[in-house]
Amino acid sequence: MKLLATPEIWFVTGSQHLYGPGPLAQVVENSQKVVDALAASKRLPLKTVFKALLTTPEEITKVMLEANNDANCAGLILWMHTFSPSKMWIRGLTSLKKPFLHLHTQFNRDLPWSTIDMDFMNLNQAAHGDREAGFIHTRLRLGRKVVVGHWSDTEVQDRIGAWMRATRAWHDWQGARFVRFGDNMRNVAVTEGDKVGAEIRFGFEVNTHGVGDLVAKVNAVSESDITALCADYEKLYKVVPALKKGGKRHDELRYSARLELGMGQFLEEGKYKGFTDTFEDLHGLKQLPGMATQRLMAAGYGFGGEGDWKTSALVRAMKVMNAGLPGGTSFMEDYTYHLSPKGHQVLGAHMLEICPSIAAGKAAVEIHPLGIGGKDDPVRLVFDAPAGDALNASLVDLGNRFRLIINEVTAVKTPALPKLPVARAVWECKPDFKTACAAWIYAGGAHHTGYSYSVTTEMLEDFATIAGVETVLINADTTLAQLKQDLRTNEVYYHLAQGLKV
Ligand code: MN
Repeated sequence: MKLLATPEIWFVTGSQHLYGPGPLAQVVENSQKVVDALAASKRLPLKTVFKALLTTPEEITKVMLEANNDANCAGLILWMHTFSPSKMWIRGLTSLKKPFLHLHTQFNRDLPWSTIDMDFMNLNQAAHGDREAGFIHTRLRLGRKVVVGHWSDTEVQDRIGAWMRATRAWHDWQGARFVRFGDNMRNVAVTEGDKVGAEIRFGFEVNTHGVGDLVAKVNAVSESDITALCADYEKLYKVVPALKKGGKRHDELRYSARLELGMGQFLEEGKYKGFTDTFEDLHGLKQLPGMATQRLMAAGYGFGGEGDWKTSALVRAMKVMNAGLPGGTSFMEDYTYHLSPKGHQVLGAHMLEICPSIAAGKAAVEIHPLGIGGKDDPVRLVFDAPAGDALNASLVDLGNRFRLIINEVTAVKTPALPKLPVARAVWECKPDFKTACAAWIYAGGAHHTGYSYSVTTEMLEDFATIAGVETVLINADTTLAQLKQDLRTNEVYYHLAQGLKV
């Protein structure tokens, strides 16, 4: 995956000097054993390193500032093995800019009932030490994830793993660059937004290049590189005969390859992690990029159609979250509905740009006319997305803040669609179609989403907590009455919590 870093997580244990050097040495030894187990766990996508035992305000502040300044530190796991009076943590935690997870665990899984004495009790007192820590986190209004249970418990490790994936995506966003080729589709509202506000809140930058800058890169691609890429296409996909080498429309496949190579070059040189384009601004390009965009998404770039930079950034973040997991993530659009009394379904697609990371089986390379844009017929990958649990996520700008909306869905087997020349997915919404769509619309969710089989609600909620933005979750438990109340409550909460800072 392009520009994917593998940062580390710092494990920090809190204590105090009351216990003397012997118990503190034991705390260090135990912490290292916990970290070794986490580092060895295949469930965790990032390496955990034991950073320090912290027992004074000065030590705590020093490590928090070091975490801020270490580009390779994505976040911290805090654990109070013993009691660590939490006024000591105020200065450090108010300085900390990295995400943290509070692991409420204990070194010993089982109590040694027949031998337990006061020394044991004093060494293993996370039960109240972590409550003291939790109080100051709450008192400071710090967003964090609390995970409870023994560190060897696979369910505990999965909770940590989901947070690590969110943390990795957050780390990826800091200083990330997204490029828009051309501006927003004219008059569309939801794809607009405050790019300054987004950079303040999320840490990524969004800038525009006139499509002419891209055209220059596309025109500079060499014929030999195009020939090699077209040969790859024939190995990877079912290329229709007209587009194959020697076919009467092969030049149009070559132009699509030229687009992919030119766009890839532009993104590479600019160190961009995602992009947008718009069919309303393609001056100098013969085709709207179809397969080119699809393949760049599969390489890990975020994408949003029609200038949708928020969805491009979100798709990139979701791709970072699902790195190494089976199942893929794509840009998606709720396109049209099947409103049968036997079950309501959504057909998701876009004009062209669905990522083949969600393809069930080998994709076909086809060429068909596009009704809009006034350009040559674009080449595209056509495939079905598989059945399975999935979700749609949308990031919208409400003017005074951002909101992340999530709908859990069940993708079903796609019926035969012989006349539909685009990649597509068919799903059923949770809790049911009518509730989900009404909830989505009340929440202001966009028609563009990040659609994923591997990113979970938990990862996205952890991500939103790190970002300090609202999540609206639409799942099997959603009722419209509660959702409408939550939206009203959140209007007040986020207005007070965020104040004037977007
Ligand atoms: Mn669209």
